[in-house]
Amino acid sequence: MTISCISCDNPKRVSEGKNTHSNSSTTNSSDEPPSIKESLSPTIAYWQYSPLHPDNQMPVTYSVKAFDDKGIEKVTLGVYEYELYKNEANLPSKRRREGGEWGIVKTWLFSPEKDTVELGFTGDGFLPNTNVFYQFKVTNTQGHTTERQALFDAGDSPWEDDKILLYSTTDTIEVRNRINICFLIDTDYHHDWRKYLQDVEQLIFRGYHANNMIETHKEKWIFYYTHYEASADLIINTDMPMPSIVTTNPLQGIDAYALLHQEDITDGAFIAERTNIVTHSFFTAEPYNLGTVVHETAHAIFNLNDEYSGAPYEQLEVHSNAFESKLLCEQYKRNNNFKTEFCRPIIDSKGKTWFTPEDEILFTSRAACEDYNRANQLKVKDCLALLIQDTIWYRPNASACIMLDDRDKEVPDFQEVCKKRIEWYYEQLGR
Ligand SMILES: [Zn+2]
Repeated sequence: MTISCISCDNPKRVSEGKNTHSNSSTTNSSDEPPSIKESLSPTIAYWQYSPLHPDNQMPVTYSVKAFDDKGIEKVTLGVYEYELYKNEANLPSKRRREGGEWGIVKTWLFSPEKDTVELGFTGDGFLPNTNVFYQFKVTNTQGHTTERQALFDAGDSPWEDDKILLYSTTDTIEVRNRINICFLIDTDYHHDWRKYLQDVEQLIFRGYHANNMIETHKEKWIFYYTHYEASADLIINTDMPMPSIVTTNPLQGIDAYALLHQEDITDGAFIAERTNIVTHSFFTAEPYNLGTVVHETAHAIFNLNDEYSGAPYEQLEVHSNAFESKLLCEQYKRNNNFKTEFCRPIIDSKGKTWFTPEDEILFTSRAACEDYNRANQLKVKDCLALLIQDTIWYRPNASACIMLDDRDKEVPDFQEVCKKRIEWYYEQLGR
């Protein structure tokens, strides 16, 4: 939900008074520069909840993983419950729920202290029309605290046709300055919403959040779903028109719609800026092919090109991963201080040669590939044999960009050029 919430209570203010243990945190309230603060405070690797969009009164498990070599001595979990309603101007709003959960629900104390903690707590379920804010605070032996929070909707939604919030790590950055992904269900789920939400849960926490350019920028991403249904198979393989939700975009603020299907079909991304058939980017994918979903998302959000032959390409104005000529590609690498000027030819679906500045590291023997992995602290055996023009080559898998090979169930990293493109995109958000 896009909540207009001017007068909402602020749970952080309420909970701060209760936390007498710590006078330091990673929020921007301190004068210390972030790098010093972060290095003094515990690291929180994840802060999740399950199940996504719990039904009315369905218990919710909150989980966290944190580490600190100075030792963790305290973790708290606060849960703050809001009621969703429409205000006098008929706008979706939320307010603190009277009699609802509002404060610390669990405290863990460690004596002796622990370097790593993985904790879970199962709390009560919620009434219909609920929005939940939960917050983990992790404190080390030196009194430094890191806090992380997330929001989600629970129980029946008051707005059946609107988007339902699945996971957002902040409510202080404007929604329009972030990337809003809305999942759609495929008809091949046969309305099994719980199965669908379980698949989406894996996709967010083990897919998106496992990628190198997303795990460090979780606050940039908001995930929703909606009850709109469509068939990816019919859209990709027949003349079936695009779903009306992506041609008319009745939901506000969505940047890309992802239609998740169970059956294995060839997926595609339709990018609003490159086609006149959608108003907002749209892609199809199997939710269990985690790398594929992140790859398709990168087409839809960052406009990144494929880095293998046989696709259509477009030279982007800023940090393009495909160029129309070798000269332009080499010039780009020179201007941006890449280690080499090497550009790799790729051939589009019409036979035209393009050039990608994203390298593909190949060796003529498996031993050389494994040596490379060993020297770069990668999984030694993780080499893929490829037959290219009658020669067998070996590729260190971890060196290949997700736009070259999305590896289906694994989640490869973005490599140098794509990283630059995404960093630039993140910087543009909110400008
Ligand atoms: Zn692709």
